[in-house]
Amino acid sequence: MPAKLIKGTEIREEILEELTAETARIKKKYGVVPGLVTILVGENPASISYVTLKIQTAHRVGFKEVQDSQPVSISEEDLLGLIAKYNADDSINGILVQLPLPKHINEKKVLTAIDPDKDVDGFHPVNVGRLMIGGSEVKFLPCTPAGIQELIVRSGVETSGAEVVVVGRSNIVGKPIANMMLQKGKGANSTVTIVHTATKHLDVHCKRADILIVAAGVPGLVKPEWIKPGACVIDVGVNRVGEKTNEKTGKKVAILKGDVDFDKAKEIAGWITPVPGGVGPMTITMLMKNTLKSLKFKLGIS
Ligand code: NAD
Repeated sequence: MPAKLIKGTEIREEILEELTAETARIKKKYGVVPGLVTILVGENPASISYVTLKIQTAHRVGFKEVQDSQPVSISEEDLLGLIAKYNADDSINGILVQLPLPKHINEKKVLTAIDPDKDVDGFHPVNVGRLMIGGSEVKFLPCTPAGIQELIVRSGVETSGAEVVVVGRSNIVGKPIANMMLQKGKGANSTVTIVHTATKHLDVHCKRADILIVAAGVPGLVKPEWIKPGACVIDVGVNRVGEKTNEKTGKKVAILKGDVDFDKAKEIAGWITPVPGGVGPMTITMLMKNTLKSLKFKLGIS
């Protein structure tokens, strides 16, 4: 029987509706809404489109949204000054600096200047540490891994005691999702293996997985015969493998493929995410969830 499709686009809508309702409730009771600032340096077209989407989504759920665009020539000192300003601004609960930054600016220095309690991307070392400790220490989960966990939970996949295999050990996907899945609690409590470029017998590990999370950035890396029948397969990979013409707009658009051979894998897996339309739509959604969470922490409500 073909796998159940985990549709990120539908789950995104569900979550955004929940966030909109909760934002309205908080506004009514406390007279405040979450505030998100996105800082964009320069005019990189991809960065502009990501920031625009973030701002539009923040607007949609009822947040105060601020887009702060700075010239590519801004000095590191001035950028740090801007972050200090938003750190001190009570109406701002989340600060997002769109990457990449120009070469003359030290990205690490800028990201660690963000107040960890406004770090809605969840990349500040303090939040990485909180994630390692787990439980009530956790403030902000990084957005893509948080989205992956939501997809698994909302699809009704059992995680407690499950064998989870994560392909990839990046700081933004592989390591944090592996850490999240091994914590005690809902949507986790799994037995986790991380595999990477130095792993011998990738196939043997993947075949054991009840939940296989693939974030390698290699199209078709995971072969259908590596998938355990009935497993939940989360394909994080987004690989541009060519171009096609959009029939409606006539514009060239990228052909995207995941790290898993989707057409064959869906005949074996129990659940599977498509690419695009699986994990992708979840990242910005979780950024909104973190921003709302930030305000709730400040108000002392859960
Ligand atoms: P990365 O390049 O930082 O890390 C890839 C990891 O995969 C590395 O740890 C590497 O060891 C491992 N890997 C690479 N080739 C391998 C191989 N042949 N065998 C075993 N392991 C291998 O990438 P990343 O930032 O973690 O992103 C991974 C993929 O996920 C990319 O396609 C990226 O575009 C996609 N991505 C999607 C979203 C989203 O949908 N929102 C977010 C982040 C990343």
